[in-house]
Amino acid sequence: MCVISLHAVFIELSASIYIYPHTMHCISLKNLIFLQETILLLLPIILPTVISGQPAHSYYSYQKGTFCNPSTEIKRPQTPDQVIQLVQSAVRLNQQVKPLGNRFSNTDIICTDGIPVDMTNINHIHFDPKTGSVTAGAGTLLVNLAQFLHKVNRTLIHFPSFGRLTVGGVLGGGSQGSSLLHPTSIGDLVTQVKLVDGMGTVQVITDPEDLPALQMNLGLLGILLEVTMKTVPLFKITFSNELHEERVLHDGSVLKWARSFDAFSFWWFPSSSSVVTAQGVYEHSSNGDLPRGNAKTHLIPEQSSLSIAGGFGLIETLQASKSAGGLKLFESFTKTSLYAQVPGRQPVYSSSGFLLENPATGFASDLLMSTCWDKCAWENGDFSLYPEESSVAFDISELPRVLKMIKSVLDQEQAFFYMIGIFFRFSGKSGGLLSPNFRNESFTIDLVAAKRKNPFEDPKFGMAAYQAILQAMV
Ligand SMILES: Cc1cc2nc3c(=O)[nH]c(=O)nc-3n(C[C@H](O)[C@H](O)[C@H](O)COP(=O)(O)OP(=O)(O)OC[C@H]3O[C@@H](n4cnc5c(N)ncnc54)[C@H](O)[C@@H]3O)c2cc1C
Repeated sequence: MCVISLHAVFIELSASIYIYPHTMHCISLKNLIFLQETILLLLPIILPTVISGQPAHSYYSYQKGTFCNPSTEIKRPQTPDQVIQLVQSAVRLNQQVKPLGNRFSNTDIICTDGIPVDMTNINHIHFDPKTGSVTAGAGTLLVNLAQFLHKVNRTLIHFPSFGRLTVGGVLGGGSQGSSLLHPTSIGDLVTQVKLVDGMGTVQVITDPEDLPALQMNLGLLGILLEVTMKTVPLFKITFSNELHEERVLHDGSVLKWARSFDAFSFWWFPSSSSVVTAQGVYEHSSNGDLPRGNAKTHLIPEQSSLSIAGGFGLIETLQASKSAGGLKLFESFTKTSLYAQVPGRQPVYSSSGFLLENPATGFASDLLMSTCWDKCAWENGDFSLYPEESSVAFDISELPRVLKMIKSVLDQEQAFFYMIGIFFRFSGKSGGLLSPNFRNESFTIDLVAAKRKNPFEDPKFGMAAYQAILQAMV
């Protein structure tokens, strides 16, 4: 195969590699393809960086705190075959690849030196009525999966709390809902995974000995192409959110509720010695009919630009002026919004989106997963509310000790949990090898604070307490 001069011109343009045309006049097709791939991969790195002096292919997680600077632009394959070709080509060139879901991870777990591969176009879904299983492309959003299943009168037994996560991402990060009675992670429902491994080989994993390694895989075992999961007949949930005094944490009530409700979580507001619980009961169809009610959760609410900017400005001002009273009031507003109607915030459960229903009945996926589409709090440009979140899981037997530890820190250092209180979720035993609830019941604590406008210069209010709690937890 003899080379055409166009390739030589191409090489000259890349500025870093210059090969005279006459040195290339007889080259094998394999080498030519290799050369062409190398050039195509290097060109986009070299040219923009040389021209602008800026990192060429930077990208963020869902918020701007996590910044990745790979050597290659994000690839967006449209089909599983394109993913496979991409990996095989990367293997030939000794490049790394990193699959990305919807980038809702808050850490640099989504960063790579090599080729970032956005999987969101791999979103085919197929339901098999014979087995009752659904197979979804790894980039499928959970909310789209739930809507598809709804049409065939099926659903998953449980969901994490946000609908815009991808199937591949929740297996990567081991995302959990909150229940001691049902599997909380989608990984626990998986019966088959099709992936392309680090050698570019496609593997179909069905062996129950191997699947637990994939349940929470951090994106390190290859790129998941599609995932087959068990489904159940469509069902509804009735959720009731209730305000309690803090003593329910210590008198055994919360653990008793966690063991008796199909879905259970709670938010602790230490500054007002109170707790709000979310108690969910699964409503199955007995004679083909499900109970009335089409409520959805708006725990992560849809918001207007104005209200996000207002919230952002208020929190920034309260933090800058170290206003303990103001932040306590904000915390109280958040607490009330979890069980009652408050002005300026979408109700936590509602069919209309405007009027609170508590208790609320609706389809399981609609009440377990929130899905702000148009504007979530972090999607408002420079006036976004960016959460800084730390999640730590413990064996369930540790609950009294951890509650006591948090209380003793807060007795010494003031902090307010005005975003979502201190959020507690529960998970029954899982088979996932890396899952925090591997063979053990666990609970997870989420500590969330709003980032300051300049998070590197300006400390958040209550930083000492947040840090002390986190250090004591890990
Ligand atoms: C608003 C919000 C709500 C959340 N709610 C919950 C919750 O209720 N429970 C909970 O446990 N967590 C929750 N999380 C955390 C979230 O579930 C995880 O961060 C999840 O991994 C993000 O999914 P993603 O699709 O955005 O994946 P990404 O963040 O893009 O990726 C996460 C990991 O999965 C890997 N990955 C992605 N796709 C693939 C693939 N096709 N093959 C192999 N690996 C892949 C990535 O490489 C990375 O390691 C929430 C986060 C946010 C921002």
